[in-house]
Amino acid sequence: MSTEATMEKGEQIYEGKAKKLYTTANPDLLIQYFKDDATAFNAQKRGTIGDKGVVNNKISEKLFNLLEKEGIPTHFVKRLSDREMLVKHLQIIPIEVIVRNIIAGSMAKRLGIEEGTVAKETIIDLCYKCDELGDPLINEYHALALEWITREQLARVKELTLKINDVLRKFFDERGLILVDFKLEFGLHKGEVLLADEICPDTCRLWDKATREKMDKDRFRRDLGNVEEAYQEVLRRVLA
Ligand code: ADP
Ligand code: UDP
Repeated sequence: MSTEATMEKGEQIYEGKAKKLYTTANPDLLIQYFKDDATAFNAQKRGTIGDKGVVNNKISEKLFNLLEKEGIPTHFVKRLSDREMLVKHLQIIPIEVIVRNIIAGSMAKRLGIEEGTVAKETIIDLCYKCDELGDPLINEYHALALEWITREQLARVKELTLKINDVLRKFFDERGLILVDFKLEFGLHKGEVLLADEICPDTCRLWDKATREKMDKDRFRRDLGNVEEAYQEVLRRVLA
């Protein structure tokens, strides 16, 4: 099969809040299409962020390449166009892995901790990936007992997650950004655990090191203005 044939968009198999997935001629590969649509608070707030899809596709490409170089296996194959990337077709593990270096967002609210408090150690939260339930917080016992992940896969997910945090923190720090927290998804491909989905200002909290200005989706969530500008600035720094 020619490489060209695998890049033809086939049938749309999924439309999510921020992306669409298409089949390709190769059943092992999918095309991930990045939209400008933005949602927050379990999709109660909806809008668009101009060119977000293009920016997130390019930021994710750069970060997946960086992580691959550091020995993290990912679903990323290559970027095909402004809004499309070719990825390996995974069976997604239905768990969102949230990493926190600084307390913010839902954790600050839930535990009554001031946003910006530095965590003494890296925190990993697990959420059950289920839109109808609003991705509820779970723990490892839930994940194992309900067979959403095996013990071996969970150990691998945690190992990869901590390594990813080390790599990304350093990368963003060198570009004047603090990696406050972020969300990862993993999936299975031929028995191997791979990093999936996207890594971008939709899924990370990034604060400017000098001004502590928010440079991520919180500008949209909290109506802070200059949303597009912040995404473009993150792209500029990531590619610098
Ligand atoms: P949501 O489903 O939360 O609305 P998106 O709009 O980002 O999110 O949709 C992308 C969907 O694609 C997510 O459900 C994600 O788990 C899934 N996905 C990401 N990478 C892959 C992959 N390599 N193979 C299969 N599914 C994937
Ligand atoms: N996050 C995400 N998708 C989700 C939930 C969280 O990408 O469905 C990211 C979010 O952008 C932030 C981190 O995970 O960088 C922690 O989010 P938190 O649990 O604080 O929830 P939020 O404040 O986003 O509701």
